[in-house]
Amino acid sequence: MARIYYEADADPALLAGRKVAVLGYGSQGHAHALNLSESGIDVRVGLREGSSSRAKAEEAGLSVTSIEQAATEADVVMILLPDTEQKAVYDAEIAPHMEPGDCLMFAHGFNIRFGQIVPPEGVDVSMVAPKGPGHLVRRTYTEGGGVPTLIAVAQDASGKAKDLALSYAHALGSTRAGVLDTTFAEETETDLFGEQVVLCGGLTALITAGFETLVAAGYQPESAYFECLHEMKLIVDLIYEQGISGMRYSISDTAEYGDLTRGPRVIDAHVREEMRRILEAIRDGSFAEEWIAENRAGRPNFSRLREAGKQHQIEKVGAELRAMMPFITAGRQRLEDVSGG
Ligand code: NAD
Ligand code: MG
Repeated sequence: MARIYYEADADPALLAGRKVAVLGYGSQGHAHALNLSESGIDVRVGLREGSSSRAKAEEAGLSVTSIEQAATEADVVMILLPDTEQKAVYDAEIAPHMEPGDCLMFAHGFNIRFGQIVPPEGVDVSMVAPKGPGHLVRRTYTEGGGVPTLIAVAQDASGKAKDLALSYAHALGSTRAGVLDTTFAEETETDLFGEQVVLCGGLTALITAGFETLVAAGYQPESAYFECLHEMKLIVDLIYEQGISGMRYSISDTAEYGDLTRGPRVIDAHVREEMRRILEAIRDGSFAEEWIAENRAGRPNFSRLREAGKQHQIEKVGAELRAMMPFITAGRQRLEDVSGG
């Protein structure tokens, strides 16, 4: 069984004795900066010139400075910039200020796992990665809870890197929910696999293929939308709350029999073989190479695919149907409130 840390396992004094820089004030950045600050940590937010987040962070009572200044002042630097921007910012504005004894932290392992950022010897390199979006990291903290979080150490120069990461997780509220020890490789590889195969790629392709199959067979697109997309949340909520068997308890026996006998025919041996190939491309670095090259080229495929997705019939039907159900988007404002810039 994996080792999971809770409140009593962390030493809050470790981080309290350090100067912390949170770089970026987006989804994760605002949550880390505010939670740490309210936990009594000496934290400054590092933002780029002209950042639209500056006013928001200052209004929230945080001390804001440039990225370079924050990296200079602090001896614990948490990088919460978009993963695709981190290498350029690190090389230009952070690396020159990394001194022996400093600690560099991440909330995702991509740039370390794939060798984009190579910190100097003498510096601790760790990860504190909440398994949830920033607005939840913030909200649960204010409610006295936390979001389950992964910690890992890539370089332990001080011999205390893990204890410091755990102390950071404590200040973030994460030890209230549980902190799981992992490695940069495991976090990065399972994260990419999850989003590609199950959570984002697999799920959206499944929804779309189901919708297209029904529409092609002559059913109304609105029926297909409700069936293949809208109801997804209701089922996922049941699984989230009670597990797969708990969800099956709530559906009809007819639905359950169809689930048990047809599900494995959809996700068949061919699909599992493709899952293994996708995992291999993550592990051997070829996916990372492809994505880095795509960014260097100005994201031509990414932009084309994103646009094609927006033009799909399911989006047009969905926009019309959701406009009649304003209550289902009531939670959105909160997400937009916290998105950075
Ligand atoms: P985000 O896009 O919400 O915010 C990024 C911040 O960086 C914003 O303040 C933005 O203005 C700033 N920024 C963008 N480009 C910049 C540049 N070139 N120079 C300086 N500042 C720049 O990002 P996020 O989703 O909070 O992700 C931050 C890190 O947290 C990533 O490593 C991500 O993988 C990780 N993470 C995110 C989530 C999540 O749910 N969003 C969950 C776990 C881990
Ligand atoms: Mg993820």
